[in-house]
Amino acid sequence: MNAFDANRDPIDLTPETRYARQVVLPEIGASGQRKLLGSSVLIIGCGALGCIQAELLARAGVGKLVIADRDVPTIHNLQRQFLFDEDDVAAKLPKAVAAARKLKKINSTINIEEIVMDITPDNIEGLVKASDVILDGTDNFETRFLINDAAVKYGKPWIYGGVQGTMGMVLPVCPVSGPCLLCLLSEPPPHASLPTCDTHGVLNTIVAWIASLQVTEAFKLLLGYNFPVYSMNVFDLWKGTFRSVPVKRDGNCPTCVQRHFEYLEADAGSRTLILCGRNAVQVSPALPQNLSLDVVGERLSRAGPVSINGRVIEFQTEGHRMIIFPDGRVIVGETKDPAIARSLVAKYLGN
Ligand SMILES: [Zn+2]
Repeated sequence: MNAFDANRDPIDLTPETRYARQVVLPEIGASGQRKLLGSSVLIIGCGALGCIQAELLARAGVGKLVIADRDVPTIHNLQRQFLFDEDDVAAKLPKAVAAARKLKKINSTINIEEIVMDITPDNIEGLVKASDVILDGTDNFETRFLINDAAVKYGKPWIYGGVQGTMGMVLPVCPVSGPCLLCLLSEPPPHASLPTCDTHGVLNTIVAWIASLQVTEAFKLLLGYNFPVYSMNVFDLWKGTFRSVPVKRDGNCPTCVQRHFEYLEADAGSRTLILCGRNAVQVSPALPQNLSLDVVGERLSRAGPVSINGRVIEFQTEGHRMIIFPDGRVIVGETKDPAIARSLVAKYLGN
């Protein structure tokens, strides 16, 4: 069905009408709207944050949206992943495909590209190079460090966003003029050290809040506004608290100063191994870990049955059995697909 079907009145789809309430905003105006229509935004991860980012950008008339995601929606996702419904869960439609379908109904006049794949060092560079701004919709630091490397390499701004529980944070990264993610964090937090939405829950209002802030920062970047200061803003919506942490460029930053791209140069393929004859995939962390099985087991027990035998954790969830070793390796059973295995590890171990 399109806007000119015989059975309904035609809709005025011209930009002048559609974006009228945005064009009258002095912050945007007619020239700003033209800039948005000529822009391309890459959304990496179409989960809770990515769904809202994509919808806001589509409604605002960003001319090209590229949505990359490796997963399919589950019933647990519907609480906070606004572009999906029960039919998408039943159809096991990939999130990028289901999202693009909804977005094309919302705005048929922009270009929406869906990419159903795991973002790895092998495929990220072309996507980042072709975009004006990249939005973080991921659930793991491994991918964020990869985004940071590619964004710094090609001088593209990206907006880090994270949510968990009732809290969330946003950091715009503008590699040409400001600090990068490695200036703030020298390396990803240790494997399985942080609570995740899947083990500790998340309030859907903080998701909407953080995604809105990320998109507002993206608008400013696309419209050419400069950032006077760089800071990471941290919110707790339940407590109503807000903290702004200034972030400065580290003069020795290996990424934005020395231009070593460790995460882009890593061989993603070597991190996952399909275990022949076992219907299982092994996912290894970038660096060996030293996990406390009791601590990790306690966290995971919130999301599914856990047993610890002193050497490994056995955790069952979403129809998969995961065996977690103290060095951070995880064997994910009931799949031969590395993308599914990496997705489960990111969801439950957070890296
Ligand atoms: Zn840096």
